[in-house]
Amino acid sequence: MATNIPLTGNFKVTCEYKRKGSWAAGWHTGIDLVGDDTIYGTCDGTVTKIGWDNSYGNYITVKAPDGKYHWFCHLSKVTCTEGQKISRTTKIGVMGSTGNSTGKHLHFEIRNSSNKYADNSDPAAYMGIPNKVGDYNSSNYQVDSSSNSSTSNATGELKTLARNTNLRERPTTDSDIIDLYIENTTLYVLEAGVAQANGYTWDKVKIRVTGAEGYMINQNYK
Ligand SMILES: [Zn+2]
Repeated sequence: MATNIPLTGNFKVTCEYKRKGSWAAGWHTGIDLVGDDTIYGTCDGTVTKIGWDNSYGNYITVKAPDGKYHWFCHLSKVTCTEGQKISRTTKIGVMGSTGNSTGKHLHFEIRNSSNKYADNSDPAAYMGIPNKVGDYNSSNYQVDSSSNSSTSNATGELKTLARNTNLRERPTTDSDIIDLYIENTTLYVLEAGVAQANGYTWDKVKIRVTGAEGYMINQNYK
């Protein structure tokens, strides 16, 4: 198991993707993360560039299998080389505050296949986390390491868990627990109100980042 998140353990989102502000685009083209210094790959990809930019500081770009480019910026140190094939467990760099940065953090950005500034995809959606300032732990956003997709094709309403809860095989508190998820895990409500049991209304849901399906009590979201 691995994640689509470039950090492990506890980390913070300190600035959301698309926040409006004084950036050249008028909005934040990536997401800012603070946590342990070691930065990992976020896909099975190829390092296409290691460079310096007055805004981005020391940066790495990795071409992902879907043709998009993952940018890792403000690094204090780069520990990969151009042309290197990497995976989600490859240590590629060390968090820093180089370039236009007011404190140590990682600016993680996903550019579409044009690889042009301000032509981006949502990096929070890719990681499977909410695009929201807050505290997270990477262990709650595991993906199958053989998979390069992060988002399921579920079409239900996207919700975020408000508390610790269990995904169950059947809509009852008596059924086997599939897994434990803590708050801020994102999921799709595939079918609302599929059952009434144990005094609760149950929804059929799909965990966004893992694709696991099951049943949850419908009061657990925000
Ligand atoms: Zn940033």
